[in-house]
Amino acid sequence: MSLDAPATVYDSGFDTGTARPIGDGLFTWPSDNPALLCSRCQDCGRATFPAQDSCPACCSTNVKLEELPRRGTLWTYTVQRFMPKTPYNSGETQETFQPYGVGYVELPGGVRAEGRLTENDPSKLEIGMDMEVVFYPFRREEDGSELISFAFRPVTGPGSTEGR
Ligand SMILES: [Zn+2]
Repeated sequence: MSLDAPATVYDSGFDTGTARPIGDGLFTWPSDNPALLCSRCQDCGRATFPAQDSCPACCSTNVKLEELPRRGTLWTYTVQRFMPKTPYNSGETQETFQPYGVGYVELPGGVRAEGRLTENDPSKLEIGMDMEVVFYPFRREEDGSELISFAFRPVTGPGSTEGR
């Protein structure tokens, strides 16, 4: 599966009957327009993604789930050129594996979220560029259900850094 194919990226319109998130509490679900979830410490204000039961900064357990904004800026990235070891399980084989970008996106509210990028060509990636979260089918299970994961996609159109 190549993430470059727009057909594999979902902005909305999930079949929530057969699709489910790749991890619990990663994003709002079921939803036609999911948002990533962070935990916000009510004592020191630190936001953590993925959400945790306690604050990594002050160890407080007084944390609340909060939806993250969909847009941010690319903080750093790299390209994964070989298939990661287990527990990575996308259904790909060594033969079908496609290199993919992975990076940190700085979101308003003080979170740097690590995630896969839809773009794997370094010449099309630039630190500081605008990114938005999208959701895509990571893997299909034997029972037919789809596991949905998230990725960050360069924003094109108004407000884009493309062509600068
Ligand atoms: Zn805290």
